[in-house]
Amino acid sequence: MKQLEGGCACVAIRYKLTKPPLIVHACHCRDCQRLTGGPHAINMWIETKFVEVHGQKPKSFTLTAGTGKAHQVFFCGQCGTYVWSRYEAVPSDCLFVRAGTLDKPSSVWPDIHVFTRSKLPWVEIPEGVPAFRSFYRFRRSGRMRISSASLRMPNNPRPNLVKSTGLRGSRAPSDGRLIPGRG
Ligand SMILES: [Zn+2]
Ligand SMILES: [Zn+2]
Repeated sequence: MKQLEGGCACVAIRYKLTKPPLIVHACHCRDCQRLTGGPHAINMWIETKFVEVHGQKPKSFTLTAGTGKAHQVFFCGQCGTYVWSRYEAVPSDCLFVRAGTLDKPSSVWPDIHVFTRSKLPWVEIPEGVPAFRSFYRFRRSGRMRISSASLRMPNNPRPNLVKSTGLRGSRAPSDGRLIPGRG
């Protein structure tokens, strides 16, 4: 897979992903709609250490996520482009990089759609792509499940996610399990 590079609108922030993302979410939650001004965000879930930042350091502010835990939003102090988020509920040190900031946003496709309960009615999810009204759970046994809670983030620091289809460019091991590792 070609290296993924991107940056903010004024080019003060440039970044390079040194590994492909673990998974790509299309998030239809209200916060993502507000932050992007669009129907959903496209978030590339990746370990922070694989996000190489050049130029200006992004600024940030904190919102409260659906989990009740902090959602830190990072943006360019010069042009205001939202570049990524960090969720306190995610156990390992990961970022959710906005795929719209890639030089070639078509390089990644959403593997999963989440929070479709607030999906705009004219957005159609492609057939065969998993979609969840809220979030999904990770199970060690490797089954992806719809959570009944409004938002349940993985509490296993090395969650396994299986049955993910349509992975394009994501780092899915050959057995189909995604393991957000830490080292
Ligand atoms: Zn900028
Ligand atoms: Zn969201």
